[in-house]
Amino acid sequence: MNLVYAKKISAYDVRQISDFIDMVFRKENVYAEASKRSSVLLKPNLLSKPTKDCDFVTTNRVVVEAVVMLLLENKIEPSRIVIGDGASAINKNMDAIFYESGMTSIADRFSLSLVNFNVLPYTEKMGIKLSNYLDSDPYIINLAKLKTHMLTKLTLSVKNLYGLLPSAVKLSYHSQFNTEDSFCRLLSKIYKAVMPAVNIVDGIVSMEGNGPGSGEKKDVGIIACSRNGFALDSFIGDSCGFKKGELLFVKHGIIDNLFDGKYALVGDNFSCSLKKPTRNAFTLPLTLADSRFARHLLTSYPLIINDTCRKCMKCMSMCPEGAITLKEGYPFVRKRECVACYCCVEVCPYKSIKTKKSFLEKVKIV
Ligand code: SF4
Ligand code: SF4
Repeated sequence: MNLVYAKKISAYDVRQISDFIDMVFRKENVYAEASKRSSVLLKPNLLSKPTKDCDFVTTNRVVVEAVVMLLLENKIEPSRIVIGDGASAINKNMDAIFYESGMTSIADRFSLSLVNFNVLPYTEKMGIKLSNYLDSDPYIINLAKLKTHMLTKLTLSVKNLYGLLPSAVKLSYHSQFNTEDSFCRLLSKIYKAVMPAVNIVDGIVSMEGNGPGSGEKKDVGIIACSRNGFALDSFIGDSCGFKKGELLFVKHGIIDNLFDGKYALVGDNFSCSLKKPTRNAFTLPLTLADSRFARHLLTSYPLIINDTCRKCMKCMSMCPEGAITLKEGYPFVRKRECVACYCCVEVCPYKSIKTKKSFLEKVKIV
């Protein structure tokens, strides 16, 4: 049976977080396993630079620090501990993100290394192009964040592994796997290729609405952990009011025999209602959803708000499809080329890109 451990914690209190993670790591023999491996990779979700009023975008530094201190206390040498991530867009400055998210300070204080997966070449494993850092076969501790997500509904532990791909591969996969179902199928394949040893989701302070980058803060007050990322994500999805089968990456985990659909909870149950993203409130048979005409009717395309746009052109430079052009001096989304990956929404530093309701949503057919 897949065990999911969970504890209600309402604030980033290092003692409480550390006690919970230590209990799980002891029960699951994590320290002994990690000590036998040449390196231990901590993979937080560092989507973008957190700001003072926006510290709910990334895995909180206190969670990362708690894991680091526990590993050190349990005789894992600092030279073998690495913190790594690759934020989604090609032009994101990982040095700044590491710094602002507190990772640089943790790495400096404990003499650890930081690694930026965005800039490394890829290596192919089970048909998936992963950062070649994975060739060293690290022991992976997946440190995800609980947030809503416009494409996958939630981003949790399974989705967090997308950050292990170099930037160029991420952009290319966004083009190739451009429906919710195909992208979630890809996420399951990535999980299979990576197989993290243990997964933790920081849901103490989370994001609702148009996550993963443009949503609003939500106090959820939960931290949860499991060997099986699909079981962990399934528990959180169930607790946040998602119906069985609604999280398509969990469905693909079951299809790929990575999860049997069942888990047993050890610890605290919780329930929470999250404001959902303004798209993907419905599903249609794939054949229909994949047709160009149906996609046009179903898709919530990004809309640039000229009033707040500062013309930095970050959206334009990172769009994987070249779907953003200039119109009267402002960026403009060409729907024919847009695959609704929402990378532009994520990357806009001024929250000037919203999602427009699809035609069917507007006429209240769905
Ligand atoms: S990233 Fe945002 S602010 Fe910059 S050009 Fe695009 S819409 Fe405007
Ligand atoms: S316009 Fe935005 S949502 Fe559309 S393909 Fe480009 S980055 Fe993705």
